[in-house]
Amino acid sequence: MRRPLIAGNWKMHKTHLEAITLVQALGHELAEHDFEAVEVAVCPPFTSLRTVQTLIDSDRYAFALGAQNVFHEKEGAFTGEVSAPMLAALDVDYVIVGHSERREHFGEDDDAVNAKVKAAWEHGMTPIVCCGETDGERAAGETEGKVERQVTRAIAGLDAERVARGVIAYEPIWAIGTGKTATPQDAQGTIRYIREVVRALVGDAAADAVRILYGGSVKSGNTAALLSEPDVDGGLVGGASLDGAEFAAIVRAAAATRGKRA
Ligand code: PEP
Repeated sequence: MRRPLIAGNWKMHKTHLEAITLVQALGHELAEHDFEAVEVAVCPPFTSLRTVQTLIDSDRYAFALGAQNVFHEKEGAFTGEVSAPMLAALDVDYVIVGHSERREHFGEDDDAVNAKVKAAWEHGMTPIVCCGETDGERAAGETEGKVERQVTRAIAGLDAERVARGVIAYEPIWAIGTGKTATPQDAQGTIRYIREVVRALVGDAAADAVRILYGGSVKSGNTAALLSEPDVDGGLVGGASLDGAEFAAIVRAAAATRGKRA
């Protein structure tokens, strides 16, 4: 049984002081049994990673810690970049790689995504590899071709064991930050397709084990329906992860749904 993961992508929000308030609010809202049922990750900006790591350690919160990006080189003259060893030294568990906002605004292509995925693994962190189609691609019936290409190139060169332990996030771009959500059936259909792509590339064990999340306007009100689908293993949550009560409600809805599915 794949353990569900709810990961909050804070994007470029919250100072390190505001991060303390948010993590404490979340810790207050969630109970031990929520963390038992669902893995919960918070992915603040780089400037808050150390603060949140310290909070997780000192208050023994059961959150996993995620970064929103990584550079593939270990060190060097790369002004403004942050390397995998730097993140690993902060006990970062997950790294979001290839988010559509990075692909669109910062020109990240599939080769860059693949290099980042490898850098994360080499330093003991699990990449959350994002893929998804635009509105136009969807209308043109190109969703499957797009996610197949993105996933195939993102995991190129990885062995099946790493793919099995990795995380993929299917995030239709038209649903990110728009309030439009894929129907649970659409999310299930594309996520199932991604699982079959993984199966063809690296085999049954990895395809059955890899966790594939849905992302795109996930809210407490649609979490149960999305996670009731057999291949939807959790959510990558943007806007709603900035509100402690709402993000906690998403986690609780995921926990309740998974309880029913188990
Ligand atoms: C995201 O940023 O990954 C995301 C899914 O955002 P939102 O939940 O705001 O649509």
